[in-house]
Amino acid sequence: MNKALCDQVARTVDRQRLTDTAVALVEVPSPTRSAGAAANRLAEILTADGFSVKRHAADWPEAPIVLAVLDSGVPGPTLQFDGHLDTVHLPFVPPRVENDTLYGSSSADMKGGIAAALEALRVLRTLDALPAGRVLFTAHDHHEGPWGDGRQVRAMIREGLVGDAVMLPEYLATPLPVAGRGLAIFQATIRRDGEPVHEVLRPIGTPDVVAAGAHLVNRLHVWNQELEQNCHPLVGHDSTFVGNIQAGEIYNQSPTECFVQGTRRWVPPTRSADVQDGFSRLLAEVAAETGTEINVEFAVQGGAYQVDSDSRLVRAFQQAHTALTGSSLPLGAKPFVDDGNIYTSEGGIPALTHGPAATGAHTLHEAAPVDELVRVANVYALTAVAFCGEA
Ligand SMILES: [Zn+2]
Repeated sequence: MNKALCDQVARTVDRQRLTDTAVALVEVPSPTRSAGAAANRLAEILTADGFSVKRHAADWPEAPIVLAVLDSGVPGPTLQFDGHLDTVHLPFVPPRVENDTLYGSSSADMKGGIAAALEALRVLRTLDALPAGRVLFTAHDHHEGPWGDGRQVRAMIREGLVGDAVMLPEYLATPLPVAGRGLAIFQATIRRDGEPVHEVLRPIGTPDVVAAGAHLVNRLHVWNQELEQNCHPLVGHDSTFVGNIQAGEIYNQSPTECFVQGTRRWVPPTRSADVQDGFSRLLAEVAAETGTEINVEFAVQGGAYQVDSDSRLVRAFQQAHTALTGSSLPLGAKPFVDDGNIYTSEGGIPALTHGPAATGAHTLHEAAPVDELVRVANVYALTAVAFCGEA
């Protein structure tokens, strides 16, 4: 990658403008399912910058997604910068910049990253640096579980409001995650017929839902050890975990329901649907063994995925990173599940998560160093040039 362009981009990234944008986004509270006002604020900022902004309901009219395009006018691929504007449901912390660090709700997760990607878009336009193709900039709601269910990203995929590859400026600066496990949150409800009854008055043969719950937990515990055999060199192994079990009112009453909640995680290339089938089979066995009825909600947060480390997207990112820092970023796994899991495993669109080394996601103490936001703006602008311009 050309050194002169790298220097030009670095000179054109406007630190103050980037910080002001981040503050303007953070100051609008946007808990998941209520990100409409923050989306409106982002649309206003883009419009004031002279971008033509489109809004699409994308299965959540309360907060239509924000979409802007920077088109080179030359045929070529589309790189998408995508972020979620919604935040976990914690008390709102207003923005402040202190010690060259942005604090406040969503400064790390992930409006700081969104502001950095937007700054990259501005720089690409100012320098007319895109040799071909387009950059598609999008932002949406419905990311953070359990309040959100990923419906806007899924609608964007269905409606074609996506690029040929996606960059997600979440709070992960290293490694470059080319693989990740899938995750489903399950809730099993174990039921028997009849009413709650005193233990000594139970009809003979009344199924015991508490014992069935214990049996299910034990089966999952044993299964978890078997699942460890399903390994992947980057992301580890399959697992299942129970974090919550609830049943009963008092010590000598036989209840009718027992709830068991936990997770199931899996490695690529296993498909989400196959994981769900296997889970349902195990629960059907436990139901038959215990004479109960078991219903399960199996909410896939994102599938397992792997991005080809020799793909155009990874090569473009590494060219940009090398131009900026002198070396490529080590490849690794993504520790969390984000929208990239949906883009890759459901949309077949390669996605990379890379953003500021920011801290405190999902706490009241989020912090994003401004230097990091500036660095991400540079990486994103150069990645777009490499991705869209590569022969
Ligand atoms: Zn996030």
